[in-house]
Amino acid sequence: MEDIDKLLGEMQLYGQENKIPIINEKGKPALVEAVRQKRPHRVLEIGTAIGYSTLLIAREAADDVKIDTLELSEERAEIAQAYISRSVYKDRIKIHIGDAGEIITALSGKYDFVFIDAAKGQYPDYFRKLYPLLSADGMIVADNVLFRGYVMGNREYPRRFKTIVKRLREYIALVSNTPEFATVIKEDGDGLAISQRLMVECDNQ
Ligand code: SAH
Ligand code: MG
Repeated sequence: MEDIDKLLGEMQLYGQENKIPIINEKGKPALVEAVRQKRPHRVLEIGTAIGYSTLLIAREAADDVKIDTLELSEERAEIAQAYISRSVYKDRIKIHIGDAGEIITALSGKYDFVFIDAAKGQYPDYFRKLYPLLSADGMIVADNVLFRGYVMGNREYPRRFKTIVKRLREYIALVSNTPEFATVIKEDGDGLAISQRLMVECDNQ
């Protein structure tokens, strides 16, 4: 099996050369830090691309981690599978090809870590659908929530981004205003929302 850091380096170059989005260099430490802190056993990733963040998460997660990762593009999923197969994590990662919004509803069991990094206009929908799959102490990390600086503040944005900006604002409001989650918005890279679900004390049982 190949050295994971060497493989990640090769993937980064492939992403650059072929203009395939992978997590921003500046956003990466925040993701790595969150996974390291959580050491998850069961991970759901929405948006595989070529599997860069998938392997990054695998490297930082618990030794027994299982990852389900969802990707719409068959072509990207194939490239991701080829890379993942070269790693020691190959039997721990399952790629599901299709629309994440549909696939999530067919998943079962509990995930203790979710990485949302697919269609930005769908984040609130992903959140509502994954919520029943999140363990009591689960963590959700969402990438690109500050989308080029258009989401917070009142920087003017091109009309074509109207829906994306609206939905990302809605996502941030969802995870910030639900007392069940403690959310931190990191400005690193394209912005990450890190939401830790809290064990709510129940005194009326
Ligand atoms: N997480 C990756 C980058 C993902 S880029 C990394 O950091 O390495 C976003 C990916 O989401 C793209 O590959 C895109 O094809 C995929 N995507 C977009 N819409 C989707 C959908 N509806 N369902 C599943 N995947 C989707
Ligand atoms: Mg991203």
